[in-house]
Amino acid sequence: MKEIAIEFINILEEHNYKAYIVGGFVRDYLLGIESHDIDITTNATPKDIGNVFDNIKVKKNINLEDNYGSVQVIYKNIVFEVTTFREELEYFDNRHPSRIRYINDLEPDLKRRDFTINAICISKDGKIIDPLNGQEDLQKKIIKTIGDSKKSFQDDALRILRAIRFSVTLNFELDKEIIKAIKTCKKYLKNISYEKKKLELDKIFASNYAKRGIEILKQLSLIEVLDLENIDRVKDYSDVMGIWSMINPPSYHFTKIEREMIDKVNLVYEMNNLDPIVLYRYGLYVNILAGTNKDLSKKKITEYYNKLPIKSKNEIMITAPEICEILKKEPGPFLKEIYEKLEIEILKGKLNNVKEDILSYIVNNFKSL
Ligand code: ATP
Ligand code: MG
Repeated sequence: MKEIAIEFINILEEHNYKAYIVGGFVRDYLLGIESHDIDITTNATPKDIGNVFDNIKVKKNINLEDNYGSVQVIYKNIVFEVTTFREELEYFDNRHPSRIRYINDLEPDLKRRDFTINAICISKDGKIIDPLNGQEDLQKKIIKTIGDSKKSFQDDALRILRAIRFSVTLNFELDKEIIKAIKTCKKYLKNISYEKKKLELDKIFASNYAKRGIEILKQLSLIEVLDLENIDRVKDYSDVMGIWSMINPPSYHFTKIEREMIDKVNLVYEMNNLDPIVLYRYGLYVNILAGTNKDLSKKKITEYYNKLPIKSKNEIMITAPEICEILKKEPGPFLKEIYEKLEIEILKGKLNNVKEDILSYIVNNFKSL
């Protein structure tokens, strides 16, 4: 991937632009972590980039009047996020710069970024360029803002959550200045959209260190300002949807699939997760999410699930034509009723899932149908 990224910046360089790999890709590359996309910073404007590459997509503008958004280029199946060198002059609403100026040099562009570890570059010849000493902080495993932390969080409060997210996913410490600044700036998180906040929280909750992430959120007293009041219901940290289900915050927007999962887990949370009928109806995954958050072990729930005599209707050892034949009836809605009864009797262990037993059960119980 790095070779293709260097190839990509060389194409821009051949057109007489300056271009560098920056951000997450460089950070993760130095840490030996795989990246999925690559950020490029360049003095080429979006228009210039469009002249160099045919396959470009201009992302949503961050400034409505000018085309200051970043440009996405797919090159050799890799997504490149290409951003023009810029200075962000002043901010409003704790999130958006009100004015941006394109510039010709790399260094001021690096200084407007969030953390030192996110401001390391790779140049066209593969050399590391690191004027803000990000590599030193990578080695020390510390998240440090570029410049004054308070000013940085006041300009863009989402950086508070980004700091915690990187500290959690990389298992790094937060710099003392960051911790102090969060205390004074946490109120600005109210001005950040729930959509943006959720994207960062998703990454925190999906991390291997989610438990530590939640402890940090609590220690920094961010639970209330983030509307995560139910967080103490979380007992199991191994699944992002399990965590969201326990918190179930009213202000955040979830996708339809996520919403359905959260509702199911909460419903099943009130039931007995070792009950064969509950296990059968809602499946192993939902029962694990509900059960592990009230001190049942995943192992025990799985053991009970694996012991179920049937896991779906298809496993009942009788076919619809066989039922029709024994009752001497044409197929009809009564079949559904019989199958539902069979399911329950088999799950309760009152009926063996064996054809002869099922046939005699049907004859004894449904011949009057
Ligand atoms: P990942 O892609 O793994 O989430 P990343 O560091 O690449 O991490 P992006 O959101 O892709 O994060 O941003 C790319 C780079 O842009 C960052 O590394 C950072 O230099 C800069 N950046 C992103 N968001 C901000 C922000 N809110 N404030 C300042 N700089 C930012
Ligand atoms: Mg990135």
